[in-house]
Amino acid sequence: MLKVTAVAPESIGAELGLKPGAELLTINGREIEDFLDWEFLSADEQFLLQVRQPGGEEIEFDIERPEGVPMGVAVEAARIRRCANRCDFCFVDGLPQGLRDTLYIRDDDYRLSFKYGNFATLTNLKPRDVERIVEYRLSPLYVSVHATDPVVRRWLLRNPLAPDILEQLRLFAGHGIAFHTQVVLSPGVNDGAVLERTLKDLYGFGASVLSVSAVPVGLTTFSKHQLVREPTRDECRAAIGQLEEWAARARRERGITWAFGADELYLRAALPLPPAEAYDGFEQVENGVGSVRWLEQRIAEDAATLAPWRGRRIGVLTGRSMAGLMPQVLEPLERITGARFELIPLGNPLFGDSVTCAGLLPGAAFQAALVGRSHLDVALIPGESLNEDQLFMDDLTLQALRSTTPVEVRPSYHFTDALDTPPVR
Ligand code: SF4
Repeated sequence: MLKVTAVAPESIGAELGLKPGAELLTINGREIEDFLDWEFLSADEQFLLQVRQPGGEEIEFDIERPEGVPMGVAVEAARIRRCANRCDFCFVDGLPQGLRDTLYIRDDDYRLSFKYGNFATLTNLKPRDVERIVEYRLSPLYVSVHATDPVVRRWLLRNPLAPDILEQLRLFAGHGIAFHTQVVLSPGVNDGAVLERTLKDLYGFGASVLSVSAVPVGLTTFSKHQLVREPTRDECRAAIGQLEEWAARARRERGITWAFGADELYLRAALPLPPAEAYDGFEQVENGVGSVRWLEQRIAEDAATLAPWRGRRIGVLTGRSMAGLMPQVLEPLERITGARFELIPLGNPLFGDSVTCAGLLPGAAFQAALVGRSHLDVALIPGESLNEDQLFMDDLTLQALRSTTPVEVRPSYHFTDALDTPPVR
């Protein structure tokens, strides 16, 4: 059973008289468990839908749905599948106490992997899940491989029952499913020869493995430092060397880069980022792979949409890792807009200063940094630091931040989304 949360006017759902709170029970006699069932089973041109209306009345609709016409029905969010692992580098273990409950949930959900590109380990799949992945052909999936050696992988995941990832990928690939994969690089565990084997095994899948990225482990003050450490500059360089060798081979043999290092890996290695063309259309940009090159490209593409900012002053607040790469992004923006940008790199008072990524900055860090900055016309903060309820990691709201700062605050993902309208004052 799946609850309806909203119905678009003049849609098929509205014509049927569906209301928020109605329960979608079955399609063609098959139980509707979640949004996947709803999306896939209701995609047919004709089907029987059994519904329980909010008043308790059960109705069966015989629906004809012309191709491409949406049902116009929004459904409740899926109950997140919990993770079966206990990785030493888990972000949840690196959280301080006292944050909102939802942040402590370890999610590992193949449905969200398909729908939103969240990485999943596939270690918690039940036979029914395997059937659904195959039946609905959920492709591409985003898979945390980490290591193809099953012993190393079980060690990394702290899960002695983790199935062999190669067997899983083989089964799904046999049904036409493709994967974007990632390796979270834990030095001394899955780098070096283990990484080489992982890259070789994944390359052996041919077109089924669309890409592989390596992301260095990121730890906070609260992480299990006695069990895991961040890679050194030389370890990052060695991993990049391996990735670039596979990338060169993939470009020669397949015409794609295929193997990528996250921007963070290049930063820690103190090596220049690859050019934009090397990122194969930025398929893993949400994973921090090619973010800077993507930003530069986005700015160039959106240049014509920017408001006139000549003579204005714009503050750019970000984490320390991105701050190192910001000058090369802000320089063209200055040229295009005529504004003056002031880069304000922030430490992280919530997780400790070793955490340098922008998305984990708490509201209090922005609040403190903007004290006395009334000379700015606008302050841009990273959009990733807010959740969909406009809450920062420390539960401060965007509204509360705005009400306590002397400057207009705009969340932004790629600058041009926040610079298309002139400042209020
Ligand atoms: S797979 Fe590992 S890192 Fe991801 S949520 Fe589970 S324990 Fe945490």
